Amino acid sequence: MNYWKAYTNLIKQNCSPFRAEKDLAYWRNNFFAGIIFYLLPLCLIALIPGLVWIYTIQAWSLAVVDLLTFAAIITVAFLPGISLVARKIIFILSSYLLGIALLYYVGLSGPGLMYLMAVCVFSLLIFPAKYAFWPALANTIILILFAIALTMDWLPWHQKDLSLGSFIAISSNLAFLSFLSAALIPVVFKGLQQTIDKGKRLSAELKAKQQSLEKALQLLESTNIELEQFAYVASHDLKEPLRMVSSFMSLLKNKYNDKLDDKAHTYIDFAIDGGNRMQRMIEDLLELSRTASQHLIKVPVDINIVVEEVQQNLFKIITDNKVAISISQKLPILSVYKSDISRLFQNLVSNAVKFRKKDVDPIIHIRFFENTEEYQFEIEDNGIGIEKEKHNKIFEIFSRLHSQKTHEGNGIGLAVCKKVVEHYGGKLWVQSEPGRGSKFCFTIKK
Ligand code: ADP
Repeated sequence: MNYWKAYTNLIKQNCSPFRAEKDLAYWRNNFFAGIIFYLLPLCLIALIPGLVWIYTIQAWSLAVVDLLTFAAIITVAFLPGISLVARKIIFILSSYLLGIALLYYVGLSGPGLMYLMAVCVFSLLIFPAKYAFWPALANTIILILFAIALTMDWLPWHQKDLSLGSFIAISSNLAFLSFLSAALIPVVFKGLQQTIDKGKRLSAELKAKQQSLEKALQLLESTNIELEQFAYVASHDLKEPLRMVSSFMSLLKNKYNDKLDDKAHTYIDFAIDGGNRMQRMIEDLLELSRTASQHLIKVPVDINIVVEEVQQNLFKIITDNKVAISISQKLPILSVYKSDISRLFQNLVSNAVKFRKKDVDPIIHIRFFENTEEYQFEIEDNGIGIEKEKHNKIFEIFSRLHSQKTHEGNGIGLAVCKKVVEHYGGKLWVQSEPGRGSKFCFTIKK
């Protein structure tokens, strides 16, 4: 059995019982346990030479006090079933007793005075601040009593060479120091208490904020999932009735071709056209709700290959429009969903071609940078550009700046791009001016 450990645990249990809060009382108790912990072996070591010395000066009552003090510290340390306050009071009273005995037997200017001062400081450290002036008062009373005893000649023979004047000079210093400590030490403790309180308050506030943030996040996540499911189900279920409307419209047009006048034909064409567009929009909505799906597995994807495949997919529009694409440097390998990242590049490159300037061959630069936290890509074109006020709007779903007649599209491509980029903790933005081309930039967190 480890005796040292058992000794430590016992003192801790008795003199600094468990407190959930690490407050001022906790530190006071801990300090008290520390005093007892070190004082006990010191007392034991000092006891034998102390008794020998007492024997030489034949001061038997000092021997009794010495043994009593030792017994008191043993009691404080080991006796079970007494309260912590009682332990502290026993400790302080026995220390006072020893101090008084030393003053009486050993001399009015030596170890006795040091003892009184030490007891005063110990009391200030182990009892609450409201009792701060009690030990200073006790010291003063003891010193006054000794001054009276000196005057009345009640002290042993060896104290006779100390004059009352010298004793008052020495003891008034001690009284002054006791009161000074009683005034200053609680101030330090008050500061400590305020710091502890502030720390506690801050950590409670932080915890509350963290909890509300976690709740909001959970709510957001579940709402997001619900929304995605809703978009998927709604668009999926809308497809069939819409297909029926379009096909019956076509049937109507074909079957009653001769019976319908030109106006009716135009209206039916409008309806079929609207139906087709709606069909495409639904397809796009479905695509958006599938983007960055949680079910896909991230794999290392070589972006060089992605860009190559995108060029192959867009081969026709690239060659028809004499598009020149330059890539600044070798692109990285990222751990992503391949279909998402392909869609991102394809949407941005096809937009760069779609929104080209009339009579100017499109030139597209793809650039790449990286820092410790993220990868950054840029896709720059020499197309028609975008007004500054519209820079945010174009990323909204179904938002378009051009009519169907001049540029085909549904206004969903950039919304998909934004969703993909944000899924990887990145940002997507545009730098552009009308007539000066556009630069779409996005980042992906490492
Ligand atoms: P769509 O291309 O189907 O219209 P997008 O979401 O891809 O939908 O783009 C939204 C709008 O942003 C486009 O209608 C267009 O007005 C503008 N835009 C997108 N890319 C560019 C570009 N490279 N240059 C100029 N305008 C662009």
